[in-house]
Amino acid sequence: MILKNIEELKNYLQTSRNIVVIGHRNPDGDAVGSTLALKHYLDKKGHTAQVLMPNEYPDFLHWIPGSETVYRFDRQNNQCVKALEKSEIIFLLDFNALHRVGSDMENTLKVYENDFALIDHHQQPDEFTYMYSDTSMSSTCEMVYNFIEMMGDVDLIDKNIATCLYTGIMTDTGSFRFRSTTSRTHHVVADLIDKGAENDRIHSNVYDANSYNRLLLLGQALSNLQMLTEYKTAFITLSQAEKKQFNYEKGDTEGVVNYALSLKGIVFAAIFIEDEEQGIVKISFRSKGSFSVNQFARNYFDGGGHDNAAGGKSELSLEETVVKFKSLLPKYVKQLETSYND
Ligand code: 5GP
Ligand code: MN
Repeated sequence: MILKNIEELKNYLQTSRNIVVIGHRNPDGDAVGSTLALKHYLDKKGHTAQVLMPNEYPDFLHWIPGSETVYRFDRQNNQCVKALEKSEIIFLLDFNALHRVGSDMENTLKVYENDFALIDHHQQPDEFTYMYSDTSMSSTCEMVYNFIEMMGDVDLIDKNIATCLYTGIMTDTGSFRFRSTTSRTHHVVADLIDKGAENDRIHSNVYDANSYNRLLLLGQALSNLQMLTEYKTAFITLSQAEKKQFNYEKGDTEGVVNYALSLKGIVFAAIFIEDEEQGIVKISFRSKGSFSVNQFARNYFDGGGHDNAAGGKSELSLEETVVKFKSLLPKYVKQLETSYND
């Protein structure tokens, strides 16, 4: 864990400030939940906080309290720049390096280098003025709860803040089932329910928001599933044409990689999704046990993340990317064999 200048930050926040709170590109439940929870908390403390996101996030996250106040850098550039110019401190949540907001926003942010406060659980974070980094944490939302506690303000957590935090913990832990889910995570979640988070509603808002096309796209993805039993590996591909056929919308492929990991005996799963707009293949990796997909994504696919959940990209074609992926596996046959042995 890294705690850097947090006491100074606490003092700094004794006076009301103009604050910007930023999540990563392609924000997920943890990014949206943590940024909005922090915004609600800071506003309640008498600050003026504005959340900025690099780009859009899926519809199933739009119900989160305060979502309508978020500015998108790709769409509301003027408002974003104005908020940044006014800001005295900038919080970076749920990402570890500036490039994770995308190059346009990164270039704008670079000039504000002295004023960053990081709260994040990804590995190998860059250096910022104020830091609370802990790679053992289930989610940035759990860390925002801890941060509010460090500020001595747990009593300020209300229904809105609890709802935001519950959402991010739930999505980043795969509904409280990944190894990162600790007894402390459950204690935090219990407190959030006591403070007003309606757990059944939150689950339903996030997970029962499928469109008909999304389920058909899932069907296509599952019929593309391939198993490489000798490497305890399974992977899924989705081409641009298949996405188009089922009217792909942002977020439609979220969680699909987990079906590959749910196969009995499989410890390493990947999904390769062709993205014509960006000219890349976007990849998600998941693993069970000691095989680090963070390292794998960093080494070969220009990515990173956590030990058991990471992402990356490839500029090769979809087919070539899969060939590359398969060619890497023999090197890891032993690690994959023993990754999840007990
Ligand atoms: P997902 O597969 O759900 O998109 O991402 C899984 C994890 O890997 C997340 O924690 C995410 O932040 C991280 N991640 C996804 N894509 C990338 C990438 O291109 N670069 C890096 N450094 N991390 C990524
Ligand atoms: Mn996260």
